[in-house]
Amino acid sequence: MTTALFPPAPVSTWLVPLDDTADGVVASLGLARPEGAPASWLDADERARAARLHDATDRHRWLVSHVALRLLLGAALEVHPSAVSVVREACPRCGGPHGRPALGPSAGRPLRFSLSRSGGHALIALRRGLDVGVDLETATAGTPSPAAPATDGLARWVRTEALLKSTGEGLTRDPDAVALRPTAPGVWSEHVEGDDAAGPELVGPAPTVADLALPSPLVAAVAGPGLDRARVRVHLPATAAA
Ligand SMILES: [Zn+2]
Repeated sequence: MTTALFPPAPVSTWLVPLDDTADGVVASLGLARPEGAPASWLDADERARAARLHDATDRHRWLVSHVALRLLLGAALEVHPSAVSVVREACPRCGGPHGRPALGPSAGRPLRFSLSRSGGHALIALRRGLDVGVDLETATAGTPSPAAPATDGLARWVRTEALLKSTGEGLTRDPDAVALRPTAPGVWSEHVEGDDAAGPELVGPAPTVADLALPSPLVAAVAGPGLDRARVRVHLPATAAA
């Protein structure tokens, strides 16, 4: 197994309450407060995107989620949040500059990240060296209970979304065409027709999806090549259960 020679990179995830203030998020992440107003930590593109959101609650939540992302990336890279360069990867379908967000080439370290928002929460994942994708959804009345993840449609959806975000395919690939099969409790791999007969893997470890245990009604999964569920850390805010 290649994973024995090259242990899969651990993944850290943070659940961020988005109805908090930016300063509240700094405190709940346990970080020192960077200088300047939180809005000044974002880049021009992020500020423009936020300004296009007309609903005040949406705008606040969007801003806080990106402030949190920059706080975590800045802490991991040991730079001010405003010095983090976030770019768009090439689109896997057309090559255009609208693929998933990634760190710019000046970051100096191969750090991957993924951000998902649902209602008043964001889920952010960071991983060094290897791709990562997260998806967060909120179960509402009418959707199946997250207490039955093996058959729950919402849980299946977040696993697929996390997988497609980790590969950078996102919504360029039909989620209904992705078949996941359990390989261990809470762990899933994509079932590819004929892969049992495949030869040695020459392209690196296959993507793995792991369910994340978050307070109800949140449902989430994290994915990445060679991901080890035992090495996924989940950081919950003190108020998550409220
Ligand atoms: Zn495209």
